Order: sequence, then C-alpha cells, then structure tokens
Amino acid sequence: MKETEQTYIDSHLDFGLDLPPIEDIHLPNIYVALEIDLLAPGDGIVTDRHHASAERYEADDPMNQIEGQISPFTLSGWLRHGCEEVVKLAGASACHPGEPNADYMRAETYERDLENGYHEKGTCIDAHDPDHAHDHENLTGCVIYDLFGGFGADPGKLLRRPITFSPIRRHVDILDGEAEAHYRQVSTHVRSRNDADGGQPLRQTDQDVLGNLEGTWKLTLRELKPEFVGLLLEAVAFLDTHSDDFAFQIGGARNFGAGIADAQVINPLYTDQEIKRVFDRSKDATAAMQDKDETWRREYRDEFVRALQARTAMRDGDLPHPGLDGDGT
Ligand SMILES: [Zn+2]
Repeated sequence: MKETEQTYIDSHLDFGLDLPPIEDIHLPNIYVALEIDLLAPGDGIVTDRHHASAERYEADDPMNQIEGQISPFTLSGWLRHGCEEVVKLAGASACHPGEPNADYMRAETYERDLENGYHEKGTCIDAHDPDHAHDHENLTGCVIYDLFGGFGADPGKLLRRPITFSPIRRHVDILDGEAEAHYRQVSTHVRSRNDADGGQPLRQTDQDVLGNLEGTWKLTLRELKPEFVGLLLEAVAFLDTHSDDFAFQIGGARNFGAGIADAQVINPLYTDQEIKRVFDRSKDATAAMQDKDETWRREYRDEFVRALQARTAMRDGDLPHPGLDGDGT
C-alpha cells in the first residue's frame, strides 16, 4: 500500500497517541466519498470537448458522453471553510483565507470576519509567545495555515487534486480520485414579464453543471501530522451534517439546490479493494470491512481528533489539552 517509508510526525504534540500502524492505513492518501445530485462549480468545468467547434454537440442530448474535470478551487474553498469552522468551534481562531493587505471590496466586512473567529492570514507564524518560543508551532502557523499553505512558495501540506469525471462508470477509477457524473451546459433565460412583450428573452446565461455525481476526491498529505487527519475527519463530518446550509453548499446555484454534498471520509483502514467495493452497488460491505469500521470508530478516529485538540490547545493556553485530562474526550 505504501510507496515509500512514512512515519507520523507527532513529536511536537508533547503526548502519546495510540495511532494505527502506518502500514495498516491509507495515509498519506485520504479519500472523501462524495454524492452530489447537482453541482454548478462557480469557476466552470474543464471538459474534453471544444464546444464551439464540436458541431455535433447538443447541450440537451442525453447521449452526450462528455468527460472532464471539476476544479479543485471550488472544492478546496468548501473544504477549507469546513476546517475553519471546526477550529472555531474548538474555541480557537482560524487564518482568514484572504491576504491581509488585499484590496477588499468590502473592508468593513473583512474587519467583522476578524472579530468573528479569524485572525489575519499568516499572523500566526510570527506570533511568538515567550512561553512557547521554541515550539515548532510558531514556525508553521495555525493548523489551517499549516495545512492549506500561505504566501508565495509556502505550499501547505495538503495536495488537493481536481476530480476527473466521466458519465461512463467503467471509465471511473475510484482510487485515482474520480467520479461518475453527467455534464450539461444549461442556458437560462430571463424573460419579459409584461403581456405586450410576450415573454421575449431579456437576458441569457450559460452555466456548466454536473448531475448525479458519485465518486471520490483524493487528498494527499505532504506531511503526516495526525492533527491534519483529525481536522479533515471533523471538517468532512461537519460539512456532511451542514450540507444544505447555504454557506456550506459547494459552488453556485445554491438557491436551486446545487452543491448539497453527502461527504464522508472513507475508512482509512480499508484496502484498495475495499474502497472500490464501497462504490459497487451490487455488493455490500464484507464482514472484514464492518470489523474495520468498528475498530476505526472505537480505537483510532478519536486519537486523530485528540491530536487536533492538542494542536489547537498549544496555540491557545485557555483550551483544554487532551494529554492532561486523562481520556481526552
Ligand atoms: Zn493562522
């Protein structure tokens, strides 16, 4: 399962974690299973057709077999927002996604964000608390900054790929972060409302949409810090629970129900074959998969979440540290 030797990086957390053996787990890859009935990524979809020259393309032809990619920008913004909420719910503040010196359209709105659980992006890197001057933490920023990256060449520790999609199930490689989905370009007309003009079109917009998306988003950690895993687990669970809250839908057309995502981190203890089986409608989970679900739930998931609690507590001395109170739950 592993290409290279990997080890957890957890010495900065100051307490022992009971993590699964690295050879038993899918890290550094994390698969997020997604089911979205309608998705309208605001930044469009890269398809394998050039529509303008494809004379045979008919937007509403059900036989269209268009493949393509969903932009990682839309997906990343959605995931990051979930991560920020988890950090804020834990009582800490999160890096604002915008550069502090940006020319904001609404400066006062940005200021209000800073009063509501955010700090200016990157201020966490050099905020040297004299008590923690030697912490690794001060060099890496808050957990959001560390995971998603910061300025310029500071890449972040989470590789977020586009999702490749196809309407043809056998073309979809779940292990490569792909999804079954059906592409359409839809046109919307705003029509006149008065009788004299007979409903003639006033304005027309085209939008890329995908229907019935089902597949995986493959994320890869560049550094195996257990708190990153804990944060992603909690963020995806949060996003799934809040999937029809306007703020946590993905992409555009939210008033029309687009971007309501069922999202789950696939059990990291599963083998490749077991991950594929999750998407095989003709097969149920095996007894081995059910055992792994139980093991994951009882033994391991909370350990990664404790790592996240420890990391946020290190930044904010007022938060409980799971290593000090015994059970950490
Ligand atoms: Zn930060």
